[in-house]
Parts: sequence; structure tokens; C-alpha cells
Amino acid sequence: MAQETIFSKIIRQEIPADIVFQDDKVTAFRDISPQAPTHVLIIPNKLIPTVNDIQDEDEVVLGHMMVVAAKIAKQEGIDESGYRLIMNCNKDAGQEVFHLHMHLLGGKHLGRLIG
Ligand code: 5GP
Repeated sequence: MAQETIFSKIIRQEIPADIVFQDDKVTAFRDISPQAPTHVLIIPNKLIPTVNDIQDEDEVVLGHMMVVAAKIAKQEGIDESGYRLIMNCNKDAGQEVFHLHMHLLGGKHLGRLIG
């Protein structure tokens, strides 16, 4: 069984978070330590620890995360200026929270892809 993280508590609204979107499949909230003027995390409500754990049955929720990301980018007014979507997987990518999440970053020029 995958271990719950703090993100499960955010989904259930048991701890405070600045939630910008939530439906039956995904939750999106502002990162506690923003790396850009807009830094939102989009996560599946289902606990999937890493990209490696994605199953065929998760295709719909993964696709929905992209749809929601585009809507939030528009809501934030960064759809035309541009933004970056990042999913870190495991140690070399620096994944810290083992509940799959997509970073939506924008609102400034983000520089090189790999630092
Ligand atoms: P990772 O490095 O795993 O891809 O990113 C995890 C992200 O989650 C980090 O950017 C970190 O700032 C954010 N984060 C960790 N704990 C919390 C929390 O309790 N609340 C919020 N809003 N963001 C968090």
C-alpha cells in the first residue's frame, strides 16, 4: 500500500492550502514555496506515488490534469506569456513528495530547462 503524504490531507481539506481548483478527479493548489509568480501544483485525488506507478486506468485523470493546467494558466493570465509544466520522478529529479504532482510555473521568464 502506498503511504499517504501531506497532499492527501490537502485534498481532504484537513490542512490549509490555497486551493485554486478541485473536482472529483484532481486538486490544484499554490505551492507553499513558490519558485515563480505563479506556482501551482496539480495532483490526482487518487494516491499515485510517482510517474512509475501510473496504470493504464489512470489515463483519464492524467489527461484531465493537463486540461486543468491549461485552464489555470488562462485563469492566472499566463497562457499567452507562457509557462512550464514539470513532473519530477524519484531521486535524480528531486521528487520530495511521493504523491504525483504537476508543477505549473509561470509569470516570469523561466530560463533554461535543466539547472
Ligand atoms: P517535488 O520536489 O516533490 O517535485 O515538489 C514538491 C513541492 O511541494 C515543492 O515545491 C514544495 O514546496 C511543495 N510542498 C511541500 N509541502 C507542501 C505543503 O504542505 N503545502 C503546499 N502548498 N506545498 C507543499
